[in-house]
Amino acid sequence: MARSYVGEARLHAGRRRDRIRPMIERLAAAHPDAVIALRFRSHLELLVSVMLSAQTTDATVNRVTERLFSKYRRPEDYLAVPLEELEQDVRPTGTYRLKARNLRAAMRMLLEEHGGEVPIRIDELVRLRGVGRKTANVVAAERGATQGIVVDTHVRRLSQRLGLTRQEDPVRIERDLMRVVPREDWSRFPHLLIWHGRRVCVARAPRCETCVLAGLCPSSRVEATRRA
Ligand code: SF4
Repeated sequence: MARSYVGEARLHAGRRRDRIRPMIERLAAAHPDAVIALRFRSHLELLVSVMLSAQTTDATVNRVTERLFSKYRRPEDYLAVPLEELEQDVRPTGTYRLKARNLRAAMRMLLEEHGGEVPIRIDELVRLRGVGRKTANVVAAERGATQGIVVDTHVRRLSQRLGLTRQEDPVRIERDLMRVVPREDWSRFPHLLIWHGRRVCVARAPRCETCVLAGLCPSSRVEATRRA
């Protein structure tokens, strides 16, 4: 069970609906470079990159895919080599046996049901083996067809600290975020939280004293000291 940050949101910082726009504006100003860090040149490369990114860093995925994508250009290519060969090619990304099996099953389904193309609808993406709602949301959003809000470990932690949700389950967190985040921001909002989570609101010791969200955040340690 992942650690919960819900209990850290103890201060009264105002209504979620009143805080969300200033939050987005401040985060956008602080992280103008907040975009996806994975490198890809096609819908297929995007899908594979996101599938490989589970439980590892984007930098590792980019290192692996640089070589992978010159060898595997079409869905058929993933099925044309022995499973062990594909496993070795994705090995540095971790859980490589599972990832290789999922990749092959997903590629087979792309060929059998989608003419070798990557679908764009969430309900079709999540039917691919190894593709959960988070992966599907990333793939759809990067193609300009946002249908939900990506919830990864950073989005979960920051949404809880910011008092935007009291839920633990990613699907319920996403539902809460979709109610409060303006529709036009669904795509960039997770990127803003992810970059803020990496640079400032880190898991163990958030840097509240330098955070642009102080005053809007019910978990701010600076505000808590000031009010004490
Ligand atoms: S770093 Fe910012 S967002 Fe995170 S708990 Fe502190 S004030 Fe809140």
